[in-house]
This record gives sequence, C-alpha cells and structure tokens, in this order.
Amino acid sequence: MTATAQRRVSIFGATGSIGQSTMDLIARDPDAYDVVALTGGHNVARLAHDAIRLDAEIAITAYEDNLPALRDALSGTGIEAAAGETAIAEAATRPADWVMSAIVGAAGLVPGLRALEAGATLALANKESLVTAGPLIMSTAKAHGARILPVDSEHSALFQGLVGEDMGAVERVIITASGGAFRDWPLDRLAQATLEQASAHPNWDMGQRITIDSASMFNKALEVIETKEYFGFDPVQIEVVVHPQSLVHALVGFNDGALMAHLGAADMRHAIGYALHWPDRRDLPVERLDLARIATLEFRAPDEARYPALRLAREVMETGGLCGAIFNAAKEEALDAFIAGTIGFMDMARVVEQVLHRLDADVTLMQGAMTLDNVRAADQMGRRTARQIIDTRTAA
Ligand code: NAD
Ligand code: MG
Repeated sequence: MTATAQRRVSIFGATGSIGQSTMDLIARDPDAYDVVALTGGHNVARLAHDAIRLDAEIAITAYEDNLPALRDALSGTGIEAAAGETAIAEAATRPADWVMSAIVGAAGLVPGLRALEAGATLALANKESLVTAGPLIMSTAKAHGARILPVDSEHSALFQGLVGEDMGAVERVIITASGGAFRDWPLDRLAQATLEQASAHPNWDMGQRITIDSASMFNKALEVIETKEYFGFDPVQIEVVVHPQSLVHALVGFNDGALMAHLGAADMRHAIGYALHWPDRRDLPVERLDLARIATLEFRAPDEARYPALRLAREVMETGGLCGAIFNAAKEEALDAFIAGTIGFMDMARVVEQVLHRLDADVTLMQGAMTLDNVRAADQMGRRTARQIIDTRTAA
C-alpha cells in the first residue's frame, strides 16, 4: 500500500480500555494507518511504548508533571512529546481522517469538538460529550461536514439497526443493561457495597469508572441521554431493559411491530471496528456467538429503587439545556467521592439528585445557550455543588 493511501488516525485516551482495543485493531494492519496523535494520563510507559510501536507523530500526557518522563522515554525516536489539556486540544486540530475519542469524563469534550472542526470523522466512545453538550457537538459536526460514529456498544448497535431505515417508521429503541456487579444483590445490601465489589463487571472488561457506573446504572443513564442526543429520539421512545447476558446490545422497534435486535460478543472491538471501517464491514477478531450453546437470553425491567440513576436521566432530559453538563459533573464528583471512600455506593445517586434539585431553580444556568463557555460554567457549578453536598454529608 502506498503512503498516500494510509489513513491518518489519532487516539485520544489511547492508554485506556477503549484506546488499547482501538490500537489492537490498528496494529493488526499497520500499513493501512498513519498514526498522528496518541494521548494518555499517568501511564507514561505505556503511552511511550505505543507511540514508538505505532510510530506516532506526537504523544501527549494529560499531566504536566509527566512530561519529563515522557520526553525521556521518547528521546531519540523523533516522536514529539507534549503535556496538558491545551496540548491535547491542539493535537486534535492536526489533520486526521479518523479520530477516536476515548478519554473518560468531561475532559473528552474539547478534543472531540476540535477534531470535528478540523473535519475528521469522530469515533465517539466518550459518551460524556453527548451528555454534557449534545446539541453543540452535533451542530459542530454538521457545520464542518464531519461525521460522528457512535462507539458505545448499544449506540453502535442502534446505528447498525437503523441503516437504510425510514426514521419515521421507528417507534421506539431499546438499549440493554447488564445490571452491573450488583444486579442480583438484595436491595438492602447495596448501601454497603465496596469499591472492590463495584469495580468487577460480570461481562465487560472496561475502565474502572465506567465499571462502577455500570453497577450504579449511571452508565445506562448517560446512555439514555446519549441516545436522545445522537439519534434525536423523543425520551419516551427510549427504553432500557436489563439483559444479564450482554449479548443483545440494542433493539429497534418499528411501527409494524417488528423488533430488530443486534447481537454480538461483549467485546468493544466490534463497535470500534465497525466505526473504523464504516461504511464497510470487515473481518474482526471477535468471538462468533454459538446460540445453541448460549441457549437462553433473559430480559427484565430495571428496578428503579435499585437504580435511581435511570429516573434522574429522565429528569435531565426533561429539563434539557445545560442540565446534562451539571448531571455529568455531579456524577463524576460523586464517583470520585465513592472511589475515595468518602461516600457509600447508594449515596452517589443521592448526591446527584440533590445537586439537580438545588440547581433546578437556577433557570439562567440551566437554560443558558449551548456554548462551550456555558457548558464549562455548568460543569463547574455542578462539581462545586456536589462537593458542598458531599462535605455536608460527611461532616454530619
Ligand atoms: P479508561 O479509564 O480505561 O481510560 C481513560 C483514558 O482517558 C486513559 O487514556 C486516561 O489516561 C485518559 N484520561 C483520564 N482522565 C483524563 C483527563 N482528565 N484528561 C485527559 N485524558 C484523561 O476508560 P475507558 O473504559 O476506556 O472509557 C473511555 C470512554 O469510553 C469513557 O467515556 C467511557 O464511558 C466510554 N466507553 C467505554 C467502554 C469500555 O468498554 N471501556 C464502552 C463504552 C463506552
Ligand atoms: Mg455502553
């Protein structure tokens, strides 16, 4: 293959779970890709190793303190080293055909926006971008003729189920939830769930934050909002069903009663690979399902007492505007506090609910225009309020 036929690709959050799976696919066909930027956080050794392995143009760590170590590890390779939020955002403006957005949390928003402004196809794993600033990221893509391809397994499944369909004939969509680590726990034990227990997912191997969010269903709450923002469905059309096997990822229901399901192994390389090769389908190194051996697929309604996050997602969609940014920020702070051992497992939803209700009256904040500055302000307000509530709870 000639150099000009290579696709220029960047991976934001390259050292994480999604980033590593993306790299696995790219590394299988090195001649097809010209790697531009790889970014990471504290895992400098892995970042440098991968940058060298894939001959990236630039490697960037999110943290300035890590820059000397990154420079050291890359010295003599000709690969540029940089650090910090601004450097990551700048790297997203480098011309690329395909950009993976796989930073975890609200920090993933700006690099994705910059990549879209530069006209890249954005493979979007960072669901927080759509939750915090859905209309902004969608309109940025439109204004720059750039495409966003969903990489969440449920959203990739819906996207695939909607190919060639008349959106007017879609009655509803259903996304599945494994139910996370505690789906079979008695309700009264949940308050005592430990960090270690919440960090073990029954079906998926993912980063720690999304794994805990799966146990609390905050992940599914984010995904319901992600579905609304990406596909434009009315919230009442979006359903969640608990499906412990995690083999059916999503279903599309049509007005003639047909329900089209997407099945596949619980392996993110499917959704990543679909976005990488779209509009083609290519052979991917994922397990092929043996339905006779699986034998049973179970479905049940999510229990709202167990998963208050789902109810909160409905409130967020109803309020709209900047409420998503506040919701996500409060959730991130509550998650940090749970990881730090400051609050209990069920307190996460209580903190987020209190933040929403305290800020709900602030119409100027909630209904501010969807600009990056306002999203940032709402994010900061959500974090500050969450920390105040956490401090009061822990002082009590
Ligand atoms: P992870 O924790 O494994 O990796 C996160 C990456 O982001 C790492 O490279 C880390 O260095 C980087 N990072 C963390 N904080 C940062 C910051 N402040 N600034 C810049 N970089 C930072 O996470 P993951 O599980 O790979 O998830 C990544 C994203 O993809 C999340 O938004 C998650 O919700 C989404 N997602 C993940 C999965 C999965 O299977 N892991 C599935 C669907 C969606
Ligand atoms: Mg998902």
